[in-house]
Amino acid sequence: MFLDLNADRFEGEPQHQYCHSCKGVIRQGEPTEMVRFDPDPNHDVESLNGLYHAACAKPFLRMHRAMQAMNRFLRF
Ligand SMILES: [Zn+2]
Repeated sequence: MFLDLNADRFEGEPQHQYCHSCKGVIRQGEPTEMVRFDPDPNHDVESLNGLYHAACAKPFLRMHRAMQAMNRFLRF
């Protein structure tokens, strides 16, 4: 039987999360924004879903708001 003695080597280390935009590490306590686009058959926006630095998320959140407004508009 193969025994991986290093299996628990990551234990206790902080789990790093990476910004979806700049790919930088999101440090503990740093302001973040979760960007979550609704599935859109016309735009590949789901690939933009993820966790961002608050500053990096700004353009995407603006786009998100614009698209939501557009979707509301198109439904009527
Ligand atoms: Zn970032």
